[in-house]
Amino acid sequence: MKGVFIKTYGCQMNVYDSARMVKLLAPLGFVPVMAPNDADLVIFNTCHIREKAAEKVYSELGKIHRLKIAKAHRGGTMIVAVGGCVAQAEGAEILHRVPFVDLVFGPQSYHRLPELVVRALREDGVRVLDTNFPAEPKFDYLPEASAAAGVTAFLTVQEGCDKFCSFCVVPYTRGAEYSRPVVQVLTEARHAVGAGVREITLLGQNVNAYHGESPDGRNWGLGELIRGLAELPGLDRIRYTTSHPGDVDDGLIAAHRDVPQLMPFVHLPVQSGADRVLAAMNRRHTADVYRQIVDRLRSARSDLALSSDFIVGFPGESEEDFLATLDLVDEIGFAQAFSFKYSRRPGTPAAFARDQVPESVKSYRLDVLQRLLKRQQRDFNEACVGQILPVLLEKPGRHDGQLVGRSPYLQSVHVAAPARLGEIVPVLISAASTNSLAGSLAPAAAA
Ligand code: SAM
Ligand code: SF4
Repeated sequence: MKGVFIKTYGCQMNVYDSARMVKLLAPLGFVPVMAPNDADLVIFNTCHIREKAAEKVYSELGKIHRLKIAKAHRGGTMIVAVGGCVAQAEGAEILHRVPFVDLVFGPQSYHRLPELVVRALREDGVRVLDTNFPAEPKFDYLPEASAAAGVTAFLTVQEGCDKFCSFCVVPYTRGAEYSRPVVQVLTEARHAVGAGVREITLLGQNVNAYHGESPDGRNWGLGELIRGLAELPGLDRIRYTTSHPGDVDDGLIAAHRDVPQLMPFVHLPVQSGADRVLAAMNRRHTADVYRQIVDRLRSARSDLALSSDFIVGFPGESEEDFLATLDLVDEIGFAQAFSFKYSRRPGTPAAFARDQVPESVKSYRLDVLQRLLKRQQRDFNEACVGQILPVLLEKPGRHDGQLVGRSPYLQSVHVAAPARLGEIVPVLISAASTNSLAGSLAPAAAA
């Protein structure tokens, strides 16, 4: 038995990929370990979306070097591998900058991980770089993820992006848009449900651009895929992330209206409330189009809650543009959100813009926006107090007799309950904070 330690950065898709790496390496005798100290193989599955995320990898690698040397002193070997989007974007630089890294592989070539690892183990001192975009879709060669780990699972259905927003590295690191065939998705979902999963989150960099080949030779959009999944007995909840406003179509809106398993919570990034900025970002929609999409979603499902992504300090963003973002936030009201300072990414068009916004202005705007978003999140959570929400119990809480689950709106809920993991129970919400809710089993369920 050999130990593999995987450190995962960034998005849920990386979490999904890491789970598959574990499965891929099992036939070589690798078992996952919780700490890198004694691992025979350490993998960093990295994120390149913002500069901070990428730089973190280099500083973490420094720590691993010490462990690798200590292991060598004890007569052992530690293979150090860097995968994911930093590997894709900076593969050769990593090998140059970090001499003790043995293996670098991109997100589209990790199905070849076993052969790369075997090479690194056999040919002492050899350094392997594999960041090609292979012609064959990697999903045809990957084992299914270890879905049985819990009651919720991620399932990648779409990958890559052809939108080329001017700030974003994804089209360069993950490559062209690709949708997995419907049968592959349904089969993986069926196996996950058979292993005890009750909620599946469909993943994609642009998940609602999904257009997978269906058994009858047509192309299904995300709405149709959701309807197909909803027919699986035992799959109680379906979610999807991340979507692009431009790809919200009638089929998806209708799925929100008709499919009770589809949770009333949508992560729909808008980035900015100013049309000038949206155009410079190449987002292909205006703030009003976003408002209309939200209206249509809310008409289809009146209790729908929204989350979003925002970037402040995009090149050329004026104070007026920023105020337009605050106005949009005020008007729509978000249950959750992620907000970031614009980060210059090498090779993307916006990185070359001359009118970069000073760091101090970015920090100020981020602070103002985050205060507003936090207040909205707290208000949304507080409005749940006194309501009975169905909660999927996912794991034990920190205190005895406490379980933690999720509401339909993805809120984390602490429940005083006897152990009934995997069940969806009605919970009377008695308290709320910015980040979570607390409650107890509603009388009917407690009885
Ligand atoms: N496909 C989604 C969309 O179109 O909105 C977004 C996926 S992207 C991987 C996740 C988020 O990272 C984006 O919504 C954006 O807010 C943020 N992001 C991407 N590039 C960024 C950059 N250069 N600087 C700051 N934030 C960035
Ligand atoms: Fe990046 Fe999303 Fe734009 Fe694609 S649509 S380039 S993933 S931000």
